[in-house]
Amino acid sequence: MPLRRGCFWLTASAVLVSAFLSLEAPNAEAVIEPMYTLPFYDSFNLACGFHCYYDPVYGWHEGVDYELGVTGVGGERVAAAASGTAKPCPPSPSAGNYIVINHGNGHRTRYLHLRDTPLPSDGQSVARGQVIGYEGSTGYTVPSGFNHLHFETRHAATTFTCGFDGTAVDPYAPSTYMWTTNPPSYAVMPGPDTCSWGANNLRVVVSGTWSDVWQTWWNGANWSGWQTLLGTATSDPSCVSRGTNLVDVFVRGSGEPLPLYLKRWDGSNWSGWEPLYGTLTSGPDACSWGPNDLRVVVSGGDYDVWQKRWNGTSWSAWQSLGGSTTVDPSCVSTDVNRVNVFARGSDGDLWQKRWDGSNWSGWEPLYGTLTSGPDACSWGPNDLRVVVRGGDYDVWQKRWNGTSWSAWESLGGTATSDPTCVSTDVNRVNVFARGSDGNLWQKYWNGSSWSGWTFFSSWP
Ligand SMILES: [Zn+2]
Repeated sequence: MPLRRGCFWLTASAVLVSAFLSLEAPNAEAVIEPMYTLPFYDSFNLACGFHCYYDPVYGWHEGVDYELGVTGVGGERVAAAASGTAKPCPPSPSAGNYIVINHGNGHRTRYLHLRDTPLPSDGQSVARGQVIGYEGSTGYTVPSGFNHLHFETRHAATTFTCGFDGTAVDPYAPSTYMWTTNPPSYAVMPGPDTCSWGANNLRVVVSGTWSDVWQTWWNGANWSGWQTLLGTATSDPSCVSRGTNLVDVFVRGSGEPLPLYLKRWDGSNWSGWEPLYGTLTSGPDACSWGPNDLRVVVSGGDYDVWQKRWNGTSWSAWQSLGGSTTVDPSCVSTDVNRVNVFARGSDGDLWQKRWDGSNWSGWEPLYGTLTSGPDACSWGPNDLRVVVRGGDYDVWQKRWNGTSWSAWESLGGTATSDPTCVSTDVNRVNVFARGSDGNLWQKYWNGSSWSGWTFFSSWP
C-alpha cells in the first residue's frame, strides 16, 4: 500500500499502547459539546483558514474557507455540521446569502456566500448532514466572484440572531476537538455499523447528535427503538456478536491521544465503557469467529492498520498490520481462523489483507474508487462482501464467492456516510447508510434480488 506520512497534527509515533493519559471513561464527560462534521459531501480545498488575513473593513477572517468539488465552480451542496435549529438570514453586502444554525449551549455555526436563499425555514430543525444550501460567491468575497463556503464556528453565544453572537473559534485548533474526525480529512457524516448473532437478530449502532453511542435492535419481529449506550464517541462505533446474546461495541473516545473504548453485553447487562487505549486516527471495526475470538482494527498514530485481539481471556498488545489509511478499516471472519481486513489506501483504492490461521498475506489491491471507509460482512466460509461509498456517492459492493471476486456493482443510493453491511443468515444481507437528508436508510438482499432503499429512521 502506498504510504501517507507527515500529517502536521500528529507525530508519526508508532506507539499505540499509551500510558495512563486517557483513563477518563467516555461517559464521565462533564460538558456536552457538539462534534462537527464537514459541512459538505464533496472533495475540498481549504483555501483560507481561521485568521488567515486581516481585512481593514471586516477585521480578522473568523471562519474557514472551503472550495468544494471542482475549484472555481459553485453549486456544491452545503450541509449542517451538526443538528440544530436554522435561522436563514436576509442577504447582506458582506455575507451574501447565509444561514446560522443554533446547536445549543451557546454553539452556533454560520454558512456564508451561498448561491441561493438558504433552504430551511426560520426555526426549522435540521439534522446533521442535511442540505441547507449551495456553494456560491454572493456578498463580499476576495477575490470577487470567489466560489467557496465560509464556515464559522462560534462559542458562548447568548442570543440567536444573524449577527456575530458569541466568540469565533478556530475549528482546527489542536486544543478544541470540534470535529468527529480530527482533523476531518474527507467528507462523510457519522455512519452506522451493524452486527447479528443469527437469523432473528440484527443490531444497528451509531453516534448520536450529542456524540453518545446509540443502538436499536431487531428481534425477528420488531425494532426496539433507539436506546443510548452513553459514552463520548469521536468516531463511528462498531458492534460485533461473538455468539447468541453476546455483543461487543467499540468506539473511539475522547482524550489525548484518542483512545479505544469497549462496552459489552452478556445477555443480561451492559458493562461500563472500558478503555483499551491506543492512538486512533480512525474509528474501529470489530470481527469474531466465535465466542472466544474477538478482534478490532483501527488506523493508528502512524496511519498503519493496527489490530488488538481477545482470546476469550485476555487482550493482546496492539499489533501493526502495515498498510496506510486515513479512514475506518474493516475486518470480518468468514470462518474459524479466517480473517479478512479491508482498508482504503492513500490512493483511494480498496486493499485487503488475509489471515489463514497461521500467517498474514501482504496487502492486495481490490481497486475501486472509495470516498468512505469500507465495511465487510459474510454468511459463511464461501461468502464475503464489502460495501463502500464510490466516487459518485452511490453505495457499491464487491463480492467474493469462495473462488473469485465479482466486479464492483452499484447499489445506488446517495450515501453521506460510510455504509455498513451485515448477514443475519445464508443469503441474507442488510445494508445501511446515511442518506443526503441526514436520515438512516437501508437496503436488503433476500438471496435473489435487492430491495430498493427504504427509510429506516431519523438520526438519534
Ligand atoms: Zn471566509
